[in-house]
Amino acid sequence: MYAARMSNLPPYLFARIDEMKAEQQKKGTDIIDLGVGDPDLPTPGHIVSSLCEAAQNPDNHHYPSYAGMPEYRSAVADWYQQRFGVSLDPVKEVIALMGSKDGIAHIAEAFVNPGDFVLAPSPGYPVYRTGTLFAEGRVYEMPLARENNFVPLLEKIPEKVAKAAKLMFINYPNNPTAAVAPDGFYREVVNFASDHDIVVVSDNAYSEIAYDGYRAPSFLETKGAMEVGVEMHSLSKTYNMTGWRIGMAVGNEEILAGLGRVKTNVDSGVFNAVQRAAITALTGPQDCVRNACAIYQERRDVLIAGLRSLGFDVPAPQATFYVWLPVQDCMAFAAKLLSEAGIVATPGVGFGSSGEGYVRFALTRPVSRINEAIERMRGLDV
Ligand SMILES: *Cc1c(COP(=O)(O)O)cnc(C)c1O
Repeated sequence: MYAARMSNLPPYLFARIDEMKAEQQKKGTDIIDLGVGDPDLPTPGHIVSSLCEAAQNPDNHHYPSYAGMPEYRSAVADWYQQRFGVSLDPVKEVIALMGSKDGIAHIAEAFVNPGDFVLAPSPGYPVYRTGTLFAEGRVYEMPLARENNFVPLLEKIPEKVAKAAKLMFINYPNNPTAAVAPDGFYREVVNFASDHDIVVVSDNAYSEIAYDGYRAPSFLETKGAMEVGVEMHSLSKTYNMTGWRIGMAVGNEEILAGLGRVKTNVDSGVFNAVQRAAITALTGPQDCVRNACAIYQERRDVLIAGLRSLGFDVPAPQATFYVWLPVQDCMAFAAKLLSEAGIVATPGVGFGSSGEGYVRFALTRPVSRINEAIERMRGLDV
């Protein structure tokens, strides 16, 4: 019944984890879910109020414009200027997305012909792969290894692959490894992309979730980046708005026009009231973001100290709300945590073959639950 491409979709490992979790729940186990990359903190009140008000206004009840409201795109451009020092033309260099997943999932359709390569990090956000498969492209996995600080070695990409590549996804601060982009890496990406005529898509969903004074850059700050790429960004992680479905693609005008043409044909934009609330988020007080980071930072410190006390050698991340823990066999480790301690962690292979040897913990549960998880693990032979 299903099309052939359906069989190429990832065997949804996350569905298997959900099944195992449901089995445990049925047995009455008190589950500590450190698997989901979805903030447990609520959306800040002033943003929710802004939505409520905007939803009352009938002017906001119509089809939105495809590219986003001019006011929203201006707010995004102003935010990029203030935050990164990147100047964007709100009319040509900014479009609204229904979350950054929308842009990531659809961009390959605009640039990839059947058989073309798409360069994607492994481990990586699974949508880089699915977007490529829907466009009938081929994924070339760029391994992210700890000994290389979880950065791909561009010089290791075979010349034949580079020549047949149309798109490259990069993602720092990184999900799932929690790595940040080292100085000079974006420069290398710009050079590689212009040498091989490759469109770069920088996924910057976690730029605002950072610790110890670290400030994540935008790819677009790099000289020449505007000529070769775009950046996908989102309010999901920054303002605890994962359920609202709003983000943005910014950068090269011609590349955005291609993505915009695909989207015009498959969706009808983001609810105007949500865009109004997003303007409030971007232009309003930012102490909510600092507070959220302080909460994640405390959780990070508790989890890292706990894991180290159990004998694990694990670095403290400077950004994202993940901890990427090296283990022997990730499936066996995750299964044991769940069945013997009621703890959900995501096995690294769920993010690609180079994720073997790791599990991902999300810092999306309170300190008390993280402490409880560590105590339960102390009773296990891990
Ligand atoms: C959460 C996430 C996204 C997408 O989030 P949206 O809610 O669609 O904006 C994109 N990339 C990475 C790496 C993520 O973790």
